[in-house]
Amino acid sequence: MLTCKQATLLASQRLDSTLNWQHRIQLWLHLLLCPRCRRFSRQLQFLQHAWQMASQQPSQEVSLSAASKARIAARLNAAQAELEQSKPR
Ligand SMILES: [Zn+2]
Repeated sequence: MLTCKQATLLASQRLDSTLNWQHRIQLWLHLLLCPRCRRFSRQLQFLQHAWQMASQQPSQEVSLSAASKARIAARLNAAQAELEQSKPR
């Protein structure tokens, strides 16, 4: 029987390529008997699925309104001025 380390390695490799039938059976048997590796394998598959979903989404442009940009610039300028005044001379 596979060790947990071997099983997690195969579970990870399974995401990138097809395992040969011996490895598939060994992994299946280990996952059947080991709840921790079963959970790890499910989490890997969830992350792969989430990554695929996220990469299929068109990127969303984020933009600020002119008023927001002006407000941020004013805050930055005020913070800069405050910093200049607090510098030791
Ligand atoms: Zn295990």
